[in-house]
Amino acid sequence: MSVEDCIFCKIADGRIPSERVYEDDTCVAFNDLVPQAPTHILIIPREHIDSLDKASATHKGALGHLLLTAGSIARDRGFAENGYRVVINTNADGGQTVFHLHVHLLAGRPFIFPPG
Ligand code: AMP
Ligand code: ZN
Repeated sequence: MSVEDCIFCKIADGRIPSERVYEDDTCVAFNDLVPQAPTHILIIPREHIDSLDKASATHKGALGHLLLTAGSIARDRGFAENGYRVVINTNADGGQTVFHLHVHLLAGRPFIFPPG
């Protein structure tokens, strides 16, 4: 699949609508279409990266920014103290279905570990 066909690239540049909760020069955060928890936000880099498996040292800044943004959204929305889960599904066994790297930020209920 080309970057042109990538649904998260289209969300990042506004060609596909989303419920944005945060954005800056490096990333966009929006509500997941099929939430798995009371809060389920996806945080994506504006730059297309297929998956964590395809990330390299050149992406170090963007990857750090995604995690710091997750923490910042959690504090801003008031669930940081109760807790939350951050997930990066990677490739087939990891359950990745959209091949534009994304961080799931889940909150609002307890999560079991290990996940299924
Ligand atoms: P993953 O399985 O880790 O690749 O996660 C992909 C996520 O993207 C799933 O949780 C989907 O519900 C979500 N998703 C797919 N299409 C959209 C969309 N158009 N807007 C918001 N979330 C989406
Ligand atoms: Zn993309």
